[in-house]
Amino acid sequence: KDMPVYHPDVRAFEVKDADGKHLAVFYTDYFPRAGKRAGAWMYNFREAYVQDGKEVRPIVYNVANFTKPTADTPSLLTIDEVQTLFHEFGHALHGMLTRCHYPSVSGTSVARDFVELPSQINEHWATHPEVLKLYAKHYQTGEVIPDSLIAKMEAASKFNQGFATTEFLAAAILDMRWHEIDEVEEYDVRQFEKEVAQSVGLIDEITYRYRSTYFSHIFTNDYCAGYYSYIWAEVLDADAFDAFKEHGIFDPATAKAFRENILEKGGSEDPMKLYRQFRGAEPNPDALLRNRGLK
Ligand SMILES: [Zn+2]
Repeated sequence: KDMPVYHPDVRAFEVKDADGKHLAVFYTDYFPRAGKRAGAWMYNFREAYVQDGKEVRPIVYNVANFTKPTADTPSLLTIDEVQTLFHEFGHALHGMLTRCHYPSVSGTSVARDFVELPSQINEHWATHPEVLKLYAKHYQTGEVIPDSLIAKMEAASKFNQGFATTEFLAAAILDMRWHEIDEVEEYDVRQFEKEVAQSVGLIDEITYRYRSTYFSHIFTNDYCAGYYSYIWAEVLDADAFDAFKEHGIFDPATAKAFRENILEKGGSEDPMKLYRQFRGAEPNPDALLRNRGLK
């Protein structure tokens, strides 16, 4: 309670391991205010690293713009906000549990197509019936969320996934095709987009979710040819969460394996090597297809 914070809405926590050893300091800054950037994100005030044989532990924060409590109601989060909270907390765990020598590879400093695994897997807990029953209670009556509502949420999550998946993949493939070009020529952008669409059999009813001439992910940021990473991370998180479903979503041994092989390692090793160490195999895309109701 006496840790300094930069705004009264900010809360600070000392995070300790099961044996009481200090792991990290974690700040939450969850509510909107004048001048605050929109959206939600995780970052570090200090990375984790080892210096002169001594472990320096990280200082991590989550920022969001959730529904603020009022005088007579607590902060009532929409399900999207809950998923955002779990998502960013997954990044925070990646940052807080890391054990790496160099700050440049510690925590979330991993390959772009691997960084969303710890965050997206956490979203599976957010809406799992066992977890919903722990926190999704009516704020006035205390009534636990009914099974009928959970079933509706589950059904709604499968809506239009055929369209969404195809639309996303078309965009990811177009992105890669641009980056496969190795000769400098005059390109007719519209024609190129059309040829790629035809080559993958995209039906006329589905168009790209962006156009090449303005979509910044294609040529700027550090995304180049990396738009696929969102769905690849979903292949990983769906398959990884299957490991928890197989052994129980609160199974300590599975959690320990995930922590030691994924969350502690940062970018210090090849992501697929880390994944195989956790799962015993490469990810199987079936889990993603099942989650989207496509299998
Ligand atoms: Zn994320």
